[in-house]
Amino acid sequence: MRRLTISFDNGPTPGDTEKVLDALASRDVLASFFVVGDEMAKPGARETLERVHAAGHWLCNHTLTHGAPLGRDEDAARVAREIGMAQDLLGPLSHPDRFFRPNGEGHFGKHLLSAAAVAYLAAGGYTVVTWNNVPGDWIEPRDAWPDRALATMENQAWSLLVIHDFLVGPMADTLTRFIDTARARGFEIVQDFPPSCTPMVRGTCGAHIVDVAMIEAAP
Ligand SMILES: [Zn+2]
Repeated sequence: MRRLTISFDNGPTPGDTEKVLDALASRDVLASFFVVGDEMAKPGARETLERVHAAGHWLCNHTLTHGAPLGRDEDAARVAREIGMAQDLLGPLSHPDRFFRPNGEGHFGKHLLSAAAVAYLAAGGYTVVTWNNVPGDWIEPRDAWPDRALATMENQAWSLLVIHDFLVGPMADTLTRFIDTARARGFEIVQDFPPSCTPMVRGTCGAHIVDVAMIEAAP
């Protein structure tokens, strides 16, 4: 059976994230939330994170500031700040596999993670999680992303979708309709990540996926 994994980036967004949680609960779907450190520090965000965690969703690291992609500079201090400080903010709410998703666009490669970042993640035992279905939930009209997501899914054995709490929350009925349609078309919705989207697992790189030159360049 073809699979679908749903993930939410750039939260938490108190209010909107709760609407997403309600929609997921109404369909018995477990998902992952890749949260940003700066957002975790905002008023009310801690309570939202607690609720995400209590519902059984996975909380994952999506950098401290969501600034320039970590592949764009070799500043080791910035790597530790962006990854490590966000992980510290998550603390015990983090999934034990320390899922980390770099910010940036396109397929996995050097533009997303510098050699310094790869070395830092390996030393810290992180699992790097990418994506293979980004339907553009920011594109107007905002309720059109499910059609693009489903079109991509049709060509994949296991789709890892990226959407955003602050965009989907205000129109959560779009999310429930999407889930219903995916299931009606025969997709099984799972919480795990497809192996093709985890180039590093608990600190170990899959040589079949990661650009080997990048790993060799790591200090
Ligand atoms: Zn992001």
